[in-house]
Amino acid sequence: MANPFSDRKCRRRYAKEALSYRPLTSLEPEVMDKEGYYYGHPCPLGHTVRDKTKHWCYRCVWRIRSNICGIDVNYMHMDYNRLANSIWTQIETEDPGDCWDTHTLSEYVYSSSYRTQSTGRRTDRMSTHKAIYNMTWGDVGSMTVTRTCGNKKCLNPLHLVSSWNNPNRLRNLMYFDTEFNFEKIKAMQERTQRGESTDPLIMTYKKNIISDPRHVEISQSYNEEYVDSI
Ligand SMILES: [Zn+2]
Ligand SMILES: [Zn+2]
Repeated sequence: MANPFSDRKCRRRYAKEALSYRPLTSLEPEVMDKEGYYYGHPCPLGHTVRDKTKHWCYRCVWRIRSNICGIDVNYMHMDYNRLANSIWTQIETEDPGDCWDTHTLSEYVYSSSYRTQSTGRRTDRMSTHKAIYNMTWGDVGSMTVTRTCGNKKCLNPLHLVSSWNNPNRLRNLMYFDTEFNFEKIKAMQERTQRGESTDPLIMTYKKNIISDPRHVEISQSYNEEYVDSI
């Protein structure tokens, strides 16, 4: 199993080999096709460009590689914010360093998935920890998500990794809001109606709540990249 933090060399090697992040040069479908991307089902954050082989979300993987992790249900794709709110009300959030448990969620939930593109359904069944990873770190398509703590019940996003994660571990979530907020939803809807990405909303919100900037690697061009893109 791929785990970039594993003590076992073969797992670290597998994680490294699984990666093939290519910068997009154009949003034209023909160019994207040649570069190995396609327009697919929206991820929990509303992005639609995915890798053709493993179906990971291009924008989300950018987030993960930049060590960005957090959740705000108000800034999620509108098909998934209620679902996210329902899932998060059942997680016992503790100190960022501790494992987070649930007494009501089962091992699997229905959540946003690249597979819904072909099934025609809005959600698909997936392991609960992967659903949590997809909505806090980013949507990794068919790639695996593992727990660094080894606790099979843990749902703390900081204990979840995919092959894309940066070895410099975050010590806290960068933003966290699991309650509905009318003002935020309104801002989200306005951007969506104008066909604009909602990522800049998250980035603005995030700035004030980074707990320890020494553990964060964010490109200075982050906001510009998002505004100019999808
Ligand atoms: Zn995404
Ligand atoms: Zn844990």
